[in-house]
Amino acid sequence: GNDSNRRNPFILPEYACQRATCLKHYNHKFTRALEILQNHAELRDNEHDSSRALAFRRASCVLKSLPFPLTSMSQLKKLTNIGDHCKRVIQEILEDGECSEVTKLQDDWFHKMVVFTSIFGIGSATAKKWIEKGWSTIKEAQEGHISSDWRVKWAFHSDLNTPVKLQEAQYIQQIVRKEAETILPGIILQITGGFRRGKEEGHDIDILMTHPEDGKEVGFLARLLHRLQNKGIILCGNLEKSTYSDDMLTLDSKLSAKGQLDHFEKWLGIIKIPQSCSETPARDDSGSLSNIGSCDHKGINSVAHPTSNTASEQPLNYQPFNLHESFEDLESKAKKQKLGTENELSPMELAKLDRNWIARRVDLIVSPYNQYFYALVGWTGNKQFNRDIRTYAQKELGMKLSSHGLYDLNKNCALPARSEKEVFENLKLQYLEPWERNC
Ligand code: ATP
Ligand code: MN
Ligand code: MN
Repeated sequence: GNDSNRRNPFILPEYACQRATCLKHYNHKFTRALEILQNHAELRDNEHDSSRALAFRRASCVLKSLPFPLTSMSQLKKLTNIGDHCKRVIQEILEDGECSEVTKLQDDWFHKMVVFTSIFGIGSATAKKWIEKGWSTIKEAQEGHISSDWRVKWAFHSDLNTPVKLQEAQYIQQIVRKEAETILPGIILQITGGFRRGKEEGHDIDILMTHPEDGKEVGFLARLLHRLQNKGIILCGNLEKSTYSDDMLTLDSKLSAKGQLDHFEKWLGIIKIPQSCSETPARDDSGSLSNIGSCDHKGINSVAHPTSNTASEQPLNYQPFNLHESFEDLESKAKKQKLGTENELSPMELAKLDRNWIARRVDLIVSPYNQYFYALVGWTGNKQFNRDIRTYAQKELGMKLSSHGLYDLNKNCALPARSEKEVFENLKLQYLEPWERNC
């Protein structure tokens, strides 16, 4: 009847930024398989693998947008971005319930690669070397890396591999907001990344900050970190100075330094939070949880107490934090505790130490206000959504989109935005809520 007419064949817009893609959808059994293929191609990381990986992801993304469960190949007829390889995979799952290629891929090598690349700072190249050495478990890698650098990494490994909960993100936001408002009243602070897209767990906590008065944000991040360090909650981290200049609006992003996605001042680090805060929901001062998944930011109108800043809050020569110092603290505490021995503690013993905190990855990003809403889109993601919307801007509009702004390459002018909705308007796109950007 009517229903099957709509479904057969179905039409979707070509770009993911032209349609909603949500965490929950009808086609997980297909998208799971396609994303294993993507993951495998990424881990192989040979020539051509990265474009294969992207092809699997684009196909998966189309199926996530379908408003019904796929039941027949004919429903795919009018859909773009699903190549022959993906069609074979989908067909096999339709017929047999699973795809033999995907089953075969999940071999020993794949499992070892997944385990090793889950270690903070370990990419596929190092993981491959470890496998060549014959290692297959974290324990073997630990035994092979016992230098002090590595002892520190291992000590926090199991913490960092435990997913971060939404409540923990809210707790950290609350702490950061309190310090931030003391330093800079009127600061705007927003959780971005996966939590803003509605995920309940993540690998880190991303917080984007700005101030509506131009220039107020300069020097703010170092002072914030100094205060957080004085609170004793920072384990380690790296402050990257802003490397932005206006010509970056027009430059090809591929020209920027390897691995660098934008040029904001940012801190990527590890902080400790009480273990208990993942058990009870934390509430912000207004008593609501509504900051998550909504595009408003409460900080904008809130009046912070203008506390006088002491000299110690204004470090001029900012020093990066030292993970080793935190680690030595941990070790000496351990020795005072029941484990107290002359012998060195193993990474496992350190991880299991009697302590009331857990280590969490945090990204703090500071943007000037005139770039803020582009930064918000970029730091909300997800990564695939960013790829897609940037390609769309370039190919369909002749515009260059980045986290710093939108530049019309034909008219040679920048297009400012005063809200996230305006970002979409400038791109001639219907607005998508953050939770509709889970490509
Ligand atoms: P998870 O829940 O696992 O943390 P996530 O979507 O939050 O998932 P992140 O890696 O934290 O993933 O990145 C959040 C968003 O910020 C993504 O959309 C990503 O494209 C963007 N992003 C991450 N790192 C950078 C960076 N160094 N420069 C610019 N943008 C980045
Ligand atoms: Mn994140
Ligand atoms: Mn992040």
